Amino acid sequence: MNILVINCGSSSLKYQLINIENQSVLASGICDRISLDKSVIKHKANNEKIEKEINMPNHKSAIKIVFEFLTHIEYGVIKSLDDIKAIGHRVVHGGEYFFKSMLITDDVIEKIKTCSDLAPLHNSVNIIGYEACKDLMPNTPMVAVFDTAFHATIPQKAYLYALPYEWYEKYKIRKYGFHGTSHKFVSKKTAEFLGLDINDSKIITCHLGNGSSICAVKNGQSIDTSMGLTPLEGIIMGTRSGDIDPAVIQYIAKKENLSIDEVINILNKKSGVLGISKLSSDFRDLLKADEEGNELARLARAAFAYRVAKYIGSYMAAMNGIDAIAFCAGVGENAVYIRGMIVEHLGFLGVKLNQEVNIKTIGTEAIISTPDSKVKVCVIPTNEELVIAQDTYEIVKNL
Ligand code: ADP
Repeated sequence: MNILVINCGSSSLKYQLINIENQSVLASGICDRISLDKSVIKHKANNEKIEKEINMPNHKSAIKIVFEFLTHIEYGVIKSLDDIKAIGHRVVHGGEYFFKSMLITDDVIEKIKTCSDLAPLHNSVNIIGYEACKDLMPNTPMVAVFDTAFHATIPQKAYLYALPYEWYEKYKIRKYGFHGTSHKFVSKKTAEFLGLDINDSKIITCHLGNGSSICAVKNGQSIDTSMGLTPLEGIIMGTRSGDIDPAVIQYIAKKENLSIDEVINILNKKSGVLGISKLSSDFRDLLKADEEGNELARLARAAFAYRVAKYIGSYMAAMNGIDAIAFCAGVGENAVYIRGMIVEHLGFLGVKLNQEVNIKTIGTEAIISTPDSKVKVCVIPTNEELVIAQDTYEIVKNL
């Protein structure tokens, strides 16, 4: 059975066509700069990469082009759209409505729209992606897989903010957490890889990408995570500030004559390691600049590693112990020196990195701690698309 996975951003659409039986990726790609000039599709199939500038005024036109590529006479991988049995959509925020993946119905869409209030930038484009697919494939079952769902098990003492309780009752203001599909996949894989019983394990998963979050996974369940009501909370990210004193918002709004929306936009898009370094949100650029003696790039890298280590320490306390730490996503899988800087903070616990293995581990599964390290540290590449495809399959297989 082939499942198409769709991940819609405001001006991009990522897709993967997955054969669920053997978990192979038949085709994958991204439509970028949708609704902007020079929109482009980058398509990968049969070990070939095709890149084409095509006008894509909206997401529906992008989906149409994806379908054309998938069924193309030369570089297509399926004969017709009938070979796609279901579509899985990544949906960022499920609020308190959805703590598991759902077959999409009108009622589900209404509730996702209600949650849009909590993630205005994300949920609305996720719905646009769904509607575009539905227009073109009205009879194909579609499933929503929520970034928040894996965190359903976080206890109230951890998800509640110390604010007037009515705010939670009236507006559902609380920690939700994100990257759930990644934390779920990586924690399960880590247990398998290390031969741990997932039902009797304490694992900290560090999803370090452009957006980053950390999760305390006890016995296979999320019990705390660093992102909150929105993805802005937690560790320092590429362009997001992570935790700050909320009073900064009022202070800087007055000083620079900005609205709250403008300040929040800066916290989302111009802060993080980009903000500190004044240079870049990309850790490759920061490493290069640091090596060339750029002090702010060095500071940004150090601040990032320090914050990650602090969260790891606090989640060890939250779980009353730890078996393993797993790194994943763009930075976690590739940035060898950042991993080293993070683990250095944990030496007092007897966590020891095998430097040689760490340096060589780029984008592959590996144990990067020494055999006598008190805690196993590993790199486990994430695969959010596969989780979305598997959840979709589980829901549609008996329809
Ligand atoms: P997202 O899915 O959140 O957009 P990714 O998980 O793809 O992000 O991570 C992207 C980030 O990973 C880049 O911005 C860059 O900082 C980092 N990255 C990717 N490759 C490397 C590398 N070889 N070395 C260091 N950092 C890297």
